[in-house]
Amino acid sequence: MNIREKLEKICCNNIAACTDRQLYEGLLHIVKKMAKEREDGKEAKTSKKKVYYISAEFLIGKLLSNNLINLGIYEEVKETLAQYGKDIAKIEELEPEPSLGNGGLGRLAACFLDSMATLGMEGDGIGLNYHFGLFLQKFKNRLQQEEINPWMEEAGWLTRTEVTYPVSFGGFTVNSRMYDLDVIGYENRTNKLHLFDIETVDETLVTEGIDFDKEDIRKNLTLFLYPDDSDDNGRRLRVYQQYFMVSNGARLILEECRQRGSNFYDLPEYAAIQINDTHPSMVIPELIRLLMEEGIRMEKAIDIVSKTCAYTNHTILAEALEKWPMEYLNQVVPQLMPIIRELDTRAKEVSNDPAVAIIDEKHLVHMAHMDIHYGYSVNGVAYLHTEILKNNELHPFYQLYPEKFNNKTNGVTFRRWLMYCNQGLSQYLDSQIGQGWHKDADQLEKLLAYQDDEHVLKKLLDIKKENKRALAAYLKATQNVDIDTDSIFDIQVKRLHEYKRQQLNALYIIHKYLEIKGGKHPATPITAIFGAKAAPAYIIAKDIIHLILCLQEVINNDPEVSPYLKVVMVENYNVTKAEKLIPACDISEQISLASKEASGTGNMKFMLNGAVTLGTMDGANVEIEELVGRENIYIFGESSDIVIRHYANADYVSRDYYEKDKDIQKAVDFIVSDPMMKAGCRENLEHLHRELLNKDWFMTLLDFKSYTAKKEEALKDYEDRMAWAKKMLVNTAKAGFFSSDRTIAEYNRDIWKA
Ligand SMILES: *Cc1c(COP(=O)(O)O)cnc(C)c1O
Repeated sequence: MNIREKLEKICCNNIAACTDRQLYEGLLHIVKKMAKEREDGKEAKTSKKKVYYISAEFLIGKLLSNNLINLGIYEEVKETLAQYGKDIAKIEELEPEPSLGNGGLGRLAACFLDSMATLGMEGDGIGLNYHFGLFLQKFKNRLQQEEINPWMEEAGWLTRTEVTYPVSFGGFTVNSRMYDLDVIGYENRTNKLHLFDIETVDETLVTEGIDFDKEDIRKNLTLFLYPDDSDDNGRRLRVYQQYFMVSNGARLILEECRQRGSNFYDLPEYAAIQINDTHPSMVIPELIRLLMEEGIRMEKAIDIVSKTCAYTNHTILAEALEKWPMEYLNQVVPQLMPIIRELDTRAKEVSNDPAVAIIDEKHLVHMAHMDIHYGYSVNGVAYLHTEILKNNELHPFYQLYPEKFNNKTNGVTFRRWLMYCNQGLSQYLDSQIGQGWHKDADQLEKLLAYQDDEHVLKKLLDIKKENKRALAAYLKATQNVDIDTDSIFDIQVKRLHEYKRQQLNALYIIHKYLEIKGGKHPATPITAIFGAKAAPAYIIAKDIIHLILCLQEVINNDPEVSPYLKVVMVENYNVTKAEKLIPACDISEQISLASKEASGTGNMKFMLNGAVTLGTMDGANVEIEELVGRENIYIFGESSDIVIRHYANADYVSRDYYEKDKDIQKAVDFIVSDPMMKAGCRENLEHLHRELLNKDWFMTLLDFKSYTAKKEEALKDYEDRMAWAKKMLVNTAKAGFFSSDRTIAEYNRDIWKA
C-alpha cells in the first residue's frame, strides 16, 4: 500500500472530508506501524552489546514530521495531503510538544537517540515519563509565570508496556510501569526511549501554578521535571525521582542482558551505560546492589559495574554538580548507603585528597565523584570544556585517572535542525550538492565551491528572507507583535542563566536605544529577539526576563526609536519555537562568560542554518571559529584563562568598570530610569541594578566594551549583502563537524565499542 491508500483506508476513502485531528491520528497510526515493521525487519540486526543512554531529560520536540522524514515518506505525505487541500503544517500544530526536557542537555540526549538509530546502532534511552514536565511559561505584567504543561494525550506516541517493577524506598514500595516511544532512525532502525512512570500519580495534586504537595511521593513522583529544590522537600523529591529512574533502568538493563545471554560477570560485553550528567549517578550503586542480590561478591560487582558505566560531564558551574546530604539518602534509599559508604572507603584508599572524596567532611555525597571513580570514561562536551575539566575543575581526578578523560564535542541532528526546520535551504542544498549530506554531513563542504557565485549567494539571501517572513507571521499570529522583515534578526534563545549573559545583550540594546534617541540611526533596523525560561526559584534570572520585557515595552512604543530597533521576547521557548526562530536568524548571540558554557548546541544549529555567530571564545564557539575562520565569526571578550584568573584572584570589581566608563554607566542606570520604572516593578529592576553594580558574578561589565564594538562591526558588515551571504555560506558549509552522527560515531569508537 502506498501512503494515499493507507490514508484512505483510515479516512474511509475520503481524505478531503477528514478533520486535521483525524488525519493526525491516522498518520500517528501509520508511523507507529511502519516503525514496528522496522523493528522486525532487516534494519533490526542485533549486536552483542547495546548502549543505554540514561538521562533525566529528553527534549525530543514534536515527533510527527521528524518521524515522517526519517521514514522517508514526508514529501509523499505532504503532497498527498495537499492534493486534498490539507496542509501538513496545520496538522503538525495539533501535536503537543512532549515536555520531557529543559535545555541543551535534554536536547542533546534527543539528538543522540536519533543518531544512534540512524547509524544503525542498538541504543535505547532511559528516563522518566513526567506528566507536566517542565513548566509552561506565560508572561503576565512583564513577569514570568509558571503553569503546568500537560502534553500526554489519549492518542499519542507513548505505548504502554507490560514491564513493571517494584521500587523500594525507605519505608515504602511503589510499582513502576514502562512506557515506550519509538526512536525512528533516518532510513534505518527503530530504537526505543523507555520512560518510567507510576500509576498512582495524581495530577490534581497541583494547586496553584505549579505548586503541589512535595511530600506525597506516591502521587507526585513523576509530575514535574526538576521540582523546585529551594527547600528540603523539593531536594528530597529529586532524590526519589533519580533513584526511581535508575532502579527501573538498572533492572531493565540486567533483564535484557540476561535474555541476550549474559551471566552478569560478562556484563560489560553486553551493555554500555552512559550517565548523562549526575542525575542518573545512583545507577552505579544500584547496579552493584542488584548484582550482589544475584550472588556476586561486592568486590566483583564493583569491578563489573566500573567497566560498564561511563559519565558525561556537562558543566563546571559548582552549584550544578550535585551533592546530596547523606541524611536524604539514608531516608530515601537506605539500601544504597552501605554500598556508597564502601565505594567512598575504597576511593579514600586510592587517594586521601579531600578534593576527590565521594563523601566529604560535611557528609555530602558528591555524585560526580562517584561517577569518576567508578566509571570507565569521563568526557567533556567540547574541546575547551574538556581541557578546563582536566586542568582546573577536575584536575585531581585527571592526575589519578588520565586514561579515563576524553572529549566528545556535542552535535545536533541535521534531520531535525536543517532538513525539517529549514525546508527551503535544505531543498536548495539538495539541488546544488546532492543529498549525500543527509547521512554524511561533511558533504556540506561541497557548498564552498559556490562561495563566489553571486547567483547562489543571492539565493541564500532569498531563502533567509523567506524564513524571516515566516517567523514574522508566526510571531504576529502567536504574540501579536509586528516586526520588520527587512531588519536584522539578532537572536538569543536559550535557558536564562546569568552565565549566558542575556543581561549583556540587554545592556547593548539600551546603549543602542540611547544612541538612536541621540539621533544616531543604524543603517538597517535591528530586531533583537529573545526566548528563555528561568528556573522558578532563580530570582536574578527572572529579574532579567523582567528587564527584557520592560525594554520591549519601552522601546517598541517609542515612535522615535521603534522604526530602528525592536525587542521581542518569545513566550515559552521550546523546540517547536526554536525550529521557527533558528532558520530566520542573521546574528546568533553566543555570549557566555568564557569558561562557563560547556559546549552549547544552539550555536551549532544557528551556524548550520546560515546565521553568523557573535560570541566569546567559549564552549564549541572555539571550534566554530577554528572551522569558519576569523572572517566568518565575530569573537569578542576576555579569554577563559583571564576569566579563570579573575575568579582565582577574586579581583573582578564590576563597579570599577561602571565608574570608568560613561556608556556603561548610562546603560546600567537606564535599568532604574523613569520610563523603565513606569513599565515595570521597582523592586525587581532595583535588585538587578544593585546586582550588576555590586556583584556581577558572571562579569557582564568586563566585556561590555568589546561586545558593543564587535556588534557594531557585524552590523556594518551586514550592509555588504554579498559579503554577508558568503559568510552565511561558509557557516553552513563548515557545520558538518557538528552533526550528532559524528559525535555518536566517536562515542562508539572511544567509549562504547558496541
Ligand atoms: C538547542 C536548544 C537548547 C540549547 O541551547 P544553548 O544555546 O546551547 O543553550 C535549549 N533549548 C532548546 C529548545 C533547544 O532547541
